[in-house]
Amino acid sequence: MTALNGEDEVVGLCRDLIRIDSTNAGDNTGPGERAAAEYVAEKLAEVGLEPRILESDSRRANVVARISGEDPSRDALLLHGHLDVVPFNADDWTHHPLSGEIADGCVWGRGAVDMKDMDAMILAVVRQRLSEGRRPPRDVVLAFTADEEAGGSYGAQWLTDNHADLFEGCTEAIGEVGGFSVSLDEARRLYLIETAEKGIAWMRLTAHGRAGHGSMLNHENAVTELAEAVGRIGRYEWPVRLTQTVKTFLAEVSEALELELDADDAEATVAKLGPLARMIGATLRNTANPTMLAGGYKANVIPQTATAHVDGRFLPGYEDEFFETVDRLLGPNVTREFVYHDIAIETGFDGPLVRAMADALVAEDPGALAVPYTLSGGTDLKAFSRLGMRGFGFAPLRLPADLDFSGMFHGVDERVPTDSLRFGVRVLDRFLDGC
Ligand SMILES: [Zn+2]
Repeated sequence: MTALNGEDEVVGLCRDLIRIDSTNAGDNTGPGERAAAEYVAEKLAEVGLEPRILESDSRRANVVARISGEDPSRDALLLHGHLDVVPFNADDWTHHPLSGEIADGCVWGRGAVDMKDMDAMILAVVRQRLSEGRRPPRDVVLAFTADEEAGGSYGAQWLTDNHADLFEGCTEAIGEVGGFSVSLDEARRLYLIETAEKGIAWMRLTAHGRAGHGSMLNHENAVTELAEAVGRIGRYEWPVRLTQTVKTFLAEVSEALELELDADDAEATVAKLGPLARMIGATLRNTANPTMLAGGYKANVIPQTATAHVDGRFLPGYEDEFFETVDRLLGPNVTREFVYHDIAIETGFDGPLVRAMADALVAEDPGALAVPYTLSGGTDLKAFSRLGMRGFGFAPLRLPADLDFSGMFHGVDERVPTDSLRFGVRVLDRFLDGC
């Protein structure tokens, strides 16, 4: 087989993937991930793998392949990336979101950041290594999933429920939303590696009252009950709770920046982090934001019920406290049910795999400082963690200091520097040597 070069291929792979429409509006009506999955499977088959395309529903396709490692007795490592992207309004973009245009040193398009960039990096590094006959030290399972952007019920959830055997032996997983650089100064860059995710509680609240004429006395008005409960939840000041991940993050960053870390005032420390404060601020506490309201149908009719939706997010280890607090704030006449509920996860920033990530980064960027952080949202990792894997967000990218990378997830003018993609291939290659 002719040797392939990952750094040469990665930009083209990323552009090709962006040009394949795999938007996921969350209602199972879009193009699906089938075309993207076929593309990925073909690229893997070309280097001798036997990828399986697994459809959870028409055109909702996932790809799984296994690379046998040099030591099959060791536990396996999962590398996973999702193939779907969120919808877009093309008129808002400088370059069409399905164009994969190269401009200003970047690949532009929906998925350039979340996460066809990492899909392309995984493909590029795997193709290079296999074309050169370099197997990883242990089994590596590759999973390219559908439906991550809508909770994974056609993707990672479905795969782990129905095809757990494909992940046999996997104890660790590497996926998205981490590994990118945030510049501290000219010489030093933080690389944020995700080691924890907040849990998700999207709730529908229902206030129950007594229906009646709007002109009469009514002390069991569902609209009033609901409005008060929503107000209590929305205004509640959740206490700061420092998880192990956040403590480690704050200690590392305070030291690097020579900031005074005030353990009693973590918020003040986080406020000094500039743009990072937006990402990290939400990981200091549970949150619950009212997002939707509905009730009634006529100005002079008191309805029997009124409803609201709340987006709740809880820290690892603080789920019980979250729901006890929400129930207290709801009061006796408002009930809650889940629209969506998923676990929080957290793993330590230690062990050989963490060292392999940190070493690979430093080898390619001597100014790299790897630190753990908590993602305030969720990824496919929650599903894979149910199979007993500990997981990390590690899609390594060295980025220019002035690029607002975290702001481009689901944003307009999503783009990734071509140099960053090539950097990512080199880091992942070193990482796979050391995994
Ligand atoms: Zn993503």
